[in-house]
Amino acid sequence: MKTVKDYIRTIADFPHEGILFRDVTTLFADPKGFRMAVDQMLTPWAGEQIDKVVGLEARGFILGGAIAHQLSKGFVPVRKKGKLPGATISQAYKLEYGEAIMEIHEDAIAPGEKVLIVDDLLATGGTCRAGTQLIERLGGEIVGCSFIVDLPELGGRKLLESLGLPISVLCEFE
Ligand code: 5GP
Repeated sequence: MKTVKDYIRTIADFPHEGILFRDVTTLFADPKGFRMAVDQMLTPWAGEQIDKVVGLEARGFILGGAIAHQLSKGFVPVRKKGKLPGATISQAYKLEYGEAIMEIHEDAIAPGEKVLIVDDLLATGGTCRAGTQLIERLGGEIVGCSFIVDLPELGGRKLLESLGLPISVLCEFE
């Protein structure tokens, strides 16, 4: 039987020469693969209270929408700077070259709400860390962070776990 990893395509030299991009659009496009990924991303958190699902731009929106629907909970986007229409709070984080800023609507999470964060891939952990900081600044409590892919060599999982964040991944690529 095919695993989630089997549905993921690798594209060489995207977005830069020397990068092997793990392309989850082939997983999303397959009905069995997509359902398997969504179901497996939820399994570790069964029995936990989750009030909101937060998806990280952009592939986290696709997964987060499906996961929130499955849980009958609300979905909240964390977006790159300048995309959200209402009043936001911002969090800067480091990229390989320079820095980026993520934002969340300031009224999207109520203090004490339990939040599951979802994204397609964990690399350095910078994007997810910014998301957790935004949620915590609004008073939300992180139940866990759920990814399809981990790239262990880039250290994101170790970073997030060192901060006490529960992490789940479905597969790894070296
Ligand atoms: P990090 O902040 O952990 O270094 O990078 C993770 C973010 O970059 C995620 O939002 C993820 O979507 C994106 N990303 C980085 N590399 C890849 C890749 O090879 N494939 C996919 N699908 N996303 C990637």
